[in-house]
Amino acid sequence: MPVLRRIPRLVTCADPVGQAELGEMRDAAVAWRHGVISWIGPDRALPADFAGETEFECDGGLVIPGLVDCHTHLAFGGWRADEFALRSRGATYQEIAAAGGGIRSTMRRTREATETELEARSRSFLEGMLRLGVTTVEAKSGYGLSLADELKLLRVYRTLDADGPVPVVPTLLAAHVVPPEYAADRRGYVDLVCGSIVPAAAAGGLARFCDVFVEEGAFTADEARRMLRAAASLGLRPKLHVDQLADGGGARLAAELGAISADHLEYTGEDGARALSAAGTVAVALPIASLYLRQPPMRARTFVDAGCAVAVATDFNPGSAPSWHLPLALTLACTMNGLTPAEALKGATRYAARAIGLEDSRGALEVGKRADLVVLDADSPDEWCYHFRPNAAREVFVGGSPVHDANLAATRA
Ligand SMILES: [Zn+2]
Repeated sequence: MPVLRRIPRLVTCADPVGQAELGEMRDAAVAWRHGVISWIGPDRALPADFAGETEFECDGGLVIPGLVDCHTHLAFGGWRADEFALRSRGATYQEIAAAGGGIRSTMRRTREATETELEARSRSFLEGMLRLGVTTVEAKSGYGLSLADELKLLRVYRTLDADGPVPVVPTLLAAHVVPPEYAADRRGYVDLVCGSIVPAAAAGGLARFCDVFVEEGAFTADEARRMLRAAASLGLRPKLHVDQLADGGGARLAAELGAISADHLEYTGEDGARALSAAGTVAVALPIASLYLRQPPMRARTFVDAGCAVAVATDFNPGSAPSWHLPLALTLACTMNGLTPAEALKGATRYAARAIGLEDSRGALEVGKRADLVVLDADSPDEWCYHFRPNAAREVFVGGSPVHDANLAATRA
């Protein structure tokens, strides 16, 4: 039974309640069997029958649960640096989208890419994320926007998940925007999503969740209701991108539909936060997108005060958030969204796992959960979020296996 010993400070995130409740232990040890935690407690109390097993030395540092990125758009073709430059000169996200850029530009390059190309590229992103301590990743389709291309993206995620080591949790986001060939027939595209894409994704076991971008320029609340009800009837639980660019009542819609998470929420007010809290929907903050779009960030304190669980994710995508650096998102969650470091950490572990329906198996260090652990070169969550570095992860264990390699060290340096 492998054991990680002499941990000066460990946070378990074992408490399901309380955004700031981290459950700290000092001088701790963690043991696991077949990739699942079997014992955790004070190092001095480690049962004698663990002697002689594989032993890892913590050698200082802070141990946290493996990070969970609960909102990414992992697979896509091309980048959009040109739009970044345009925005730096004052163009808005909406203006760029109206001129044929934005999501539709990535759609064209994603359709051109082969499944093998998308897979290789996404795999390299996952490797980079893993080195930072990210041990589970949610990934959305949404740049195919046709039956064949949406399924192509979901198959990429299935392959990456099967190959490991990072589990990939797939979400169908066929309702990202209306593709150009349906510009004059929105209803026809919604029919295609409800009648063909959702059933194909569900039948193939290719997606766990169905997501809709509800915004001017994307989909209306009524269209979202139709698509998400069709998805729910086939076992795909709703997620929503809402209230990013304006308060469109998206939080209340997410609550009404029983969404597992509502993401963005930059313009959501107290009423929306209370609705999410009552529905048990996780509120997901995406500060990298707010940073890149130079828009007001989601007011996380409003959601915490309303009793919501707040998760923090990257929103990694080629337009509004071209970085998969989850620790960066956590630092920004403190400086922009108003979370404390402890609250941000809970939001990228236990509550992020809740946002993708995996709270029973990960996001916390408890007996029975996956042995996903990160050893950080930091004394505390406060110091980790404050002293932002390219990579503070000294060692990463995923399913009990150490990932440490030359690249990990190189990334840190
Ligand atoms: Zn997104």
